[in-house]
Amino acid sequence: MLPLLLLAQDRDGWVTPEAMEEIAGWLDTTPALVLGTCSFYTMLKREPVGDLVVSVCTNVSCLVNRGPELLDGLRSRYEDDTAIMVEEVECIAACDRAPAIQINYEYYGPVDTTAAVEIIEKYRRGELRGAHYFGLITGSKVMAIEETRIITKFLRDRPQDSWEYAVAREHNQAYSALEAALKRDPAELIEEVKTSGLRGRGGAGFGTGQKWSFLPAGVFPRYLAINADEGEPSTFKDHMLIEGDPHQLIEGTIISAFAIGAHHAFIYIRGEFALGTERLEAAVAEAYKNGYLGKDILGSGFDLELIVHRGAGCYIAGDETGLLSSLEGERAMPRIKPPFPAIQGLFAAPTVVNNVETISNIPHIVRKGGEWYASMGVNKSTGTRIFSVSGMVERPGNYEIELGMSFRDLIEGLAGGVRGGRPLQFFIPGGASAPWLLPEHLDEPLDMDRASELRTMLGSGAIMVFDDTVDPLLVSWRLARFFAHESCGKCTPCREGSSWIEKVLYRMTNGLGRPDDLDLLLDFGSNIVPGLNAPFAQTTICALGPSTMSHVVSLERCFGAEIRARLQKDFDKRRTLEVTPA
Ligand code: SF4
Repeated sequence: MLPLLLLAQDRDGWVTPEAMEEIAGWLDTTPALVLGTCSFYTMLKREPVGDLVVSVCTNVSCLVNRGPELLDGLRSRYEDDTAIMVEEVECIAACDRAPAIQINYEYYGPVDTTAAVEIIEKYRRGELRGAHYFGLITGSKVMAIEETRIITKFLRDRPQDSWEYAVAREHNQAYSALEAALKRDPAELIEEVKTSGLRGRGGAGFGTGQKWSFLPAGVFPRYLAINADEGEPSTFKDHMLIEGDPHQLIEGTIISAFAIGAHHAFIYIRGEFALGTERLEAAVAEAYKNGYLGKDILGSGFDLELIVHRGAGCYIAGDETGLLSSLEGERAMPRIKPPFPAIQGLFAAPTVVNNVETISNIPHIVRKGGEWYASMGVNKSTGTRIFSVSGMVERPGNYEIELGMSFRDLIEGLAGGVRGGRPLQFFIPGGASAPWLLPEHLDEPLDMDRASELRTMLGSGAIMVFDDTVDPLLVSWRLARFFAHESCGKCTPCREGSSWIEKVLYRMTNGLGRPDDLDLLLDFGSNIVPGLNAPFAQTTICALGPSTMSHVVSLERCFGAEIRARLQKDFDKRRTLEVTPA
């Protein structure tokens, strides 16, 4: 359904009622069902839009980098211009370029209103077009502290053409790990990945080899789905991997499919990644042409069809089961587990869902061995991880480091510290869903299990940094607005709770709070996460529910006393105004 809807939009400029009827006819379903799916995805427009769609991000990293001012500036500049639609969007995975915009899904940033208008006008006159390479601006002129580049080495070394097949073959041994893997026993490959200790890099951190081994023996067909729907605010690492080294991802996908015995694999790529989709599709075509995909791959007898499937603007499609619903052509609504996808996933068949960064590691593990990989890192957090550092730092960007490095070395060393030398107030260690940490935690290691002990998580590897000028209530409100917007509405605690949390935080942020508002929020939250401190106990179907509470719990833990005093002060001030005669 989604590919047809996107095709219709490409043809007509928007998804017309006639196109929905046409699609319903092709898929032997009703126009109402097509509308139901279409209306769930923000990129699918159900009314005419201008020639140019300018999308302005105001999520947290852009928020603290003047994104809202940019939005206001562009809205007032183009409010009477029917050829240009300016829209506010959630995180577009370009946080190292905050504030960032997209013009017809091409990225530009950082920009202020003047620079953005200049770019838009050039674009309108046809003087500006084409691929803008994105995501490789990490400064990394750093000296004592170094990255450990494994999956980012090649794309950093050859930023001009690393995505090209011939270049990847000649300079990065592309597909050599696949050649070796196809000669091995699939069960042995699963053991190799288990030995490596590789854990999922999308958020949950589950053991990759273990996940593969949960598929029931002898049940076919089975599927592999790669989650490239990177939507967790302030995460932009998969974006870089897809654009910079699509052959590494494809090679990892083929090896993984061979290991689990899947003959169909899907890469579900975020709809906004237009350039990523273009490069990935071109790379898949090259892989088919050169015998790495299709029938009897390299004479091994193994067949694999790989489909690049584009999303259409929806955070919850990044949830494992939400992604499966979306692939099946429905609203991306998560499903109750059990049954887990390994037993009953895509089209009710056993399915493994893995993240882009996770799978990009697979060729290296096959080439150098699980023990080599496990020799890096700390405790049960083995290997390297890419951390997307953004917010108020000198050098925002993606950094691939060996796990175990301290937050201080990453934030103050590699990312250059808080911008302008201002004091650090707090930081979010693992994406919007992760509870916050304070400067006293800077010397803690980047270790997934240690993060759990600190009652937070490394999540998607997005680290947002805030100086002492930022209002924590404003950050919390913006996150609440994001989760309220992205809640799919399937379960009541999340649907109702997320929007009430946003409303109460709005009044708290704007001087209209009541003295007990923080307790009121915690009370809402106890209906979503009983006990509030147990990260994975939840009354909701998916993890978005508890995520709506992470920032509220953080307000209580990090700034509870100050916020209560502020609420009381705001309340007293209003009361004084009310009783003072005019
Ligand atoms: Fe949907 Fe929220 Fe329930 Fe997840 S927790 S299924 S996003 S309503």
